[in-house]
Amino acid sequence: MVTILQFFFVLVLIIIIILFVFKMGRVRETILLPENYRDLLNDYVEFYRQLDEEGKERFDKRIEQFLSAVQITGVNAVVEDLDRLLIAAGAIIPVYAIPDWQYINLHEVLLYPGAFNEDFDQGGSDRPIGGMVGTGAMQHVMIITKWQLRQGFINSNDARNAAIHEFVHLIDKMDGTMDGVPEIILERKHIARWKHLMDSTIWQMKNGASDIDMYGATNPVEFFAVISEYFFERPGLLKANHPEVFEMLEKIYKRALSSD
Ligand SMILES: [Zn+2]
Repeated sequence: MVTILQFFFVLVLIIIIILFVFKMGRVRETILLPENYRDLLNDYVEFYRQLDEEGKERFDKRIEQFLSAVQITGVNAVVEDLDRLLIAAGAIIPVYAIPDWQYINLHEVLLYPGAFNEDFDQGGSDRPIGGMVGTGAMQHVMIITKWQLRQGFINSNDARNAAIHEFVHLIDKMDGTMDGVPEIILERKHIARWKHLMDSTIWQMKNGASDIDMYGATNPVEFFAVISEYFFERPGLLKANHPEVFEMLEKIYKRALSSD
């Protein structure tokens, strides 16, 4: 038989627990985003600058979710607030128009100061210094260098962004194969056309001058990552120079980007 006193005791206990959990949540929130995160994002992230107030709030929530799910660890490098924000921005920019997107294939990002040991490159894919997404024992891990991460955002109109590049590899990898075809977000009916466009553009790059970074001609995997950097940094230029590729990227990323 439960007495009134016992009932009230349990009730007070439950209220205390709820308040405690709520408070923990708030503390966690303030740890995830630094006080000046808005200033930092506006200063460094061109994509963010172009969003309206509602869009910025949506972006803030997404980076907060990302930072609560993915550990960022410095390896001989200090992880500063700016680094965490830029990594999160690089993760969210490509999937911004895909609201329920989660990087379930990523648990940790390792931040290196600069060039990293070649041994880490085995089985991974990437530019010599820029970064890599891990395979095998390094599954679910991404490596990015602090220098390239920051460079990618400081210089916002060179069509290069190391963070976006690596996250696009993860998007590509989500369907089980890294092949330049992100089947998880690209409608099946467009796949053949996208493959053809990648092949023909790579052929053009190899057989004449191109404004696309030649690293993209390595294979379709690198092409998809490199052309996505171009798409998010210089959409207007890509549209003018490669309208068909641009149109397909709009379909892949579900968004119409304003021209730069
Ligand atoms: Zn790559």
